[in-house]
Amino acid sequence: MRRPLVAGNWKMHGSRAENTRLIEELLRGDEGVGPEVVVCPPFVYLWEVSRQIRDSSIVLGAQDVCAEAQGAYTGEVSAAMLRDVGCRYVIVGHSERRHLYQEDDQAVARKFVAVQREGLVPILCVGETLAERERGATEDVVGRQLEAVLALAGVAAFSQAVVAYEPVWAIGTGKNASAEQAQAVHAFVRSRIAAKDAILAASLRVLYGGSVKAANAAEIFAQADVDGGLIGGASLKGEEFRRICQAVAG
Ligand code: PEP
Repeated sequence: MRRPLVAGNWKMHGSRAENTRLIEELLRGDEGVGPEVVVCPPFVYLWEVSRQIRDSSIVLGAQDVCAEAQGAYTGEVSAAMLRDVGCRYVIVGHSERRHLYQEDDQAVARKFVAVQREGLVPILCVGETLAERERGATEDVVGRQLEAVLALAGVAAFSQAVVAYEPVWAIGTGKNASAEQAQAVHAFVRSRIAAKDAILAASLRVLYGGSVKAANAAEIFAQADVDGGLIGGASLKGEEFRRICQAVAG
């Protein structure tokens, strides 16, 4: 039985005042039932948000991490620091990191390992660009991204991880993958893990991300291999995010 998960990636948005308002809205609907709900604010707000949600069922996540444990890495934040301020989840390999900051598959794999070394749970993002989809390379790309992590971390590491399928062409574009497109790639992700460990694959949570809104969430989340979502823009609106969480529950 896989407990669904809905994670909000706030990206580089918010302020202390805006975050407080958003958390208040989310807490109003927090009954501790339904999916596991995670919020991922920018680094500088993690500690304050962790205090604000501490008596709730909402869980804290970070948007990125440094692969190194500590040292002379100006501007970076380690997994131990994220654990210290209350994070449970860490997004690794978000397409904005891969494409805007040139993180390659190996760098993402190293971050995945660094997160797990501190007992945190990586949310590993994979997904193809529009050009890759149009030339029929979706499975090659997603398979390659998974393989880099499998090679470094081993399949057993996926028992303490979440995968998020995020087609790059759907992120922040308002153009979501259809429920069928999402299901096909999710089934592919699960089959790649199942080829190495079928029991583990059956319990792996695979989230969909890319222009999820309250209006399309239920259809996508109803797919057999979709276990919730990674939500960008819509996670910044309390009521909308709550409705997305309810869509997974119902
Ligand atoms: C994301 O940032 O991971 C994302 C899926 O964004 P959006 O929901 O805005 O497409």
